[in-house]
Amino acid sequence: MYLPDLIVRSRRVVTRDGVRPAALHIRGGRIIGVLDFENVPDGCPVDDAGDLVVMPGAVDTHVHVNAATAGDADVFEQTTRAAATGGVTTIIDVGSVGGPTASVSTLEQIRRAAEGHCAVDVGFCGGIVPGNSREIGPLAAQGVFAFACTFGVAAIEGAAAVTEADLRTAMPGLARIGATLMVHGELPGPIERAVSGQRSSMGFFDRATWSFRGSREYVRFLETHPKSAETEAVVQLLELCREYGTRTHILNLSSSDALTPIFRARTVRMPLTVETCPHFLFFVSEEVPDGATAFKCVPPIRERANRELLWGALAGGLIQTVASDHSPPPAGVHGRTPRDFSRAWGGIASVQLSLPAVWTMVSARGHTVNELAAWMCRGPARIAGLEKKGEIDVGHDADLVIWDPDAEFAVDASTLVDRRTSTPYIGCSLRGIIARVYLRGNVIYEQGRPIERTMGRLLVKPRVSTARIS
Ligand SMILES: [Zn+2]
Repeated sequence: MYLPDLIVRSRRVVTRDGVRPAALHIRGGRIIGVLDFENVPDGCPVDDAGDLVVMPGAVDTHVHVNAATAGDADVFEQTTRAAATGGVTTIIDVGSVGGPTASVSTLEQIRRAAEGHCAVDVGFCGGIVPGNSREIGPLAAQGVFAFACTFGVAAIEGAAAVTEADLRTAMPGLARIGATLMVHGELPGPIERAVSGQRSSMGFFDRATWSFRGSREYVRFLETHPKSAETEAVVQLLELCREYGTRTHILNLSSSDALTPIFRARTVRMPLTVETCPHFLFFVSEEVPDGATAFKCVPPIRERANRELLWGALAGGLIQTVASDHSPPPAGVHGRTPRDFSRAWGGIASVQLSLPAVWTMVSARGHTVNELAAWMCRGPARIAGLEKKGEIDVGHDADLVIWDPDAEFAVDASTLVDRRTSTPYIGCSLRGIIARVYLRGNVIYEQGRPIERTMGRLLVKPRVSTARIS
């Protein structure tokens, strides 16, 4: 029997079977035993976390590092240090908002930028764009964890989005190799109709003052991203998923109207999973101040009633994961334009705050730490095929977050590590203070100390995956 080189123990360890006292025996960065709390061999270094929660490091499968490819190491440092500070030990970079990682040469450039500059482990998605279906096989051979795309409307002008025809070209190939398609979806038709309806309903005064006043009203912005734009995209995706049998993971679901078709699809066991984001579970549109463009994202933060339905879907298992959709502006794109929703950057950078933000709402609703771990650790790891992540169990990486679920803090802009944009959480009171974070048995974050270590690895998906989807 091997002796551990580190033991982490607590009265509240989050295991698959529930929260219980345990001593985690760690050797070579892996968990080699989940044993009784008192089981501590003489001479072993021990991190005794007492009553703090010891949970698997969170796995964020929806991060836009937004690297401008070569030479952009700094953005990997900022993003992954923000992740480590927030208890996230693995991120999947789904590609730049300006254009997904659509070729092996782009993937290689991004990997070169990231190598040696990551505080947490980083995996990558390949991208689907019009005309790149021949890249699917080579990208899969490079070990990407999934293929990401934007179906319908691009998040920023000039970025590549795919049509139904493009998906019909790509999805059979993805299905053949067992790859997962991760999709952002909003269709242009409902958005165009909403915009033209809004303009035609304006009187002379509204039109004359639109650029000064109308673009600052959140309700006006929300009107231009109706639920139907998302829901119609989801319905089309479900049809394609049924037709081709391609594993499909819907990203950043905001529209509760899409839950009914999703329910029907999962009832007939289509290979479908769904993600929502912390900001959709935390904020409500009724409370977004006019001009507060830090709240801008697409799809948008919707009404309180919509938020409650998303919580119901999460609790009921219809939505399986919560991921940040961390998306600061890429270099060369200006950040927040003060007070103007029509021109401001759309994207909420929250990889550092996701865990406490979601826990704040989870605990207020009477859900448990174990459910939190299912939504932010186990579920995303399984869907991405990260077989050694997201779980405290023998054979898994010793990626751990040790945190106090009862402590509260107010979000202070000066503590945010990714400095590329503002965030709507500034000033919010959140529950859950992170004390220490381990990556493969090494401390990568301690509360109050600046992080100097960049011990993260670039992950490659094994060619044969045993990950199941449920
Ligand atoms: Zn995204």
